[in-house]
Amino acid sequence: MLNIALFGPPGAGKGTQSERLIEKYKLFYISTGDMLRKEIAEKSQLGLEAKSIIASGGLVSDEIIVQIIEKTIKENQESKGFLFDGFPRTYIQAYILEGLMIKLNTSLNCLISLEVDEDESVARLLERGKSSGRTDDNESVIRNRLKEYYDKTLPVLKFYKDKGIYFPINGANSIDKVNNDICDVLQNELSKRLLNIVLFGPPGSGRGSQGMALAEKYGLEYVATGKMLEQEIEKKTKIGKRIQELYENGQLVPDEIVVQLIEQKIENSKGIKGFIFKGFPRTLVQSYILDGLLKKHGSAISEIIEIEVPTLELISRLDARSKTDRCMPYDNSTAKIVKRLQEHETKTVPVIQKYNQQHGVKKIDGMGTFEEVFERLSKEIERGFRKI
Ligand code: AMP
Repeated sequence: MLNIALFGPPGAGKGTQSERLIEKYKLFYISTGDMLRKEIAEKSQLGLEAKSIIASGGLVSDEIIVQIIEKTIKENQESKGFLFDGFPRTYIQAYILEGLMIKLNTSLNCLISLEVDEDESVARLLERGKSSGRTDDNESVIRNRLKEYYDKTLPVLKFYKDKGIYFPINGANSIDKVNNDICDVLQNELSKRLLNIVLFGPPGSGRGSQGMALAEKYGLEYVATGKMLEQEIEKKTKIGKRIQELYENGQLVPDEIVVQLIEQKIENSKGIKGFIFKGFPRTLVQSYILDGLLKKHGSAISEIIEIEVPTLELISRLDARSKTDRCMPYDNSTAKIVKRLQEHETKTVPVIQKYNQQHGVKKIDGMGTFEEVFERLSKEIERGFRKI
């Protein structure tokens, strides 16, 4: 989702810019002012409560704002994002917006502040008042609206400066120039978007070969922790030697090492479109770690895919592989194969279940030829790209 708040004093051009932005980015438009005016026109209870406050240029209560906004957001959570105009207008509303976004499992991406000085605002609103039909576009109410803006709304900027998502734009420029400046900010934001896929599937489901092929086709970075550990051993790095020792003592590689390697990979990956994680997270703890790692880099999991293959087929595939030169040290005996399948069942299946509750897991049929499964997975990745 791309969620934006357009900020600025009355008359800054938020409405005009909104029209263009919702068209270009297909966003769902939420103007609290428009919604309140609609309530007034419909003479609803809410409208009656808001009417005199709006007429005097004051701000209506946060309770009323929550009531009008909450339902609209919930009903439109499938949209590509929201564009807020005239909200948040108080510090409290900034917290309210945070809460609403958390509920949708998303966040506000940018607060675009159209900056114009007071004289310019007044001049524009008086001009608009000649044709807008808005009773609050007259000089004494305008002065009060601006006073409310400087007293209560302007301090909200600090909230977003602290969060690092405040983008000031000179609103005194022409409509086209302002629009271009906003689009530059948004394009930059969109280009940072990554498609992060977590690929699950039991041993033998083909997730390794499929994951690598998908990464290649779609410009994604393939992050397979097992392979990364092996490479460290091969390259005899400091971490590699440590891993070797642990292996020799029959100990598990601690999460700190795996996390360090993933972090290095994320930091060194420039110009990629996202990541495919395979073999991580394997445990519930690691699933929290992955959320934290991605969040640190301003990103999040976009999609979780599970390749499904019946157990008997897995055994027969792993057994067949054990007789070829692709045999892994861990699938050269039936006992080892069964142990790995059990490990998957006890440790990783709960992770998949957690993700299923949190984000939903897309199940892909892993039966058929490599190409058939690849085709199914590709469709899913393409759907993921369209979503971001
Ligand atoms: P606008 O159309 O954004 O200029 O809003 C017109 C009037 O509606 C404002 O002067 C306020 O009285 C009221 N209003 C709109 N949005 C809010 C909000 N988020 N919080 C409080 N009052 C609002």
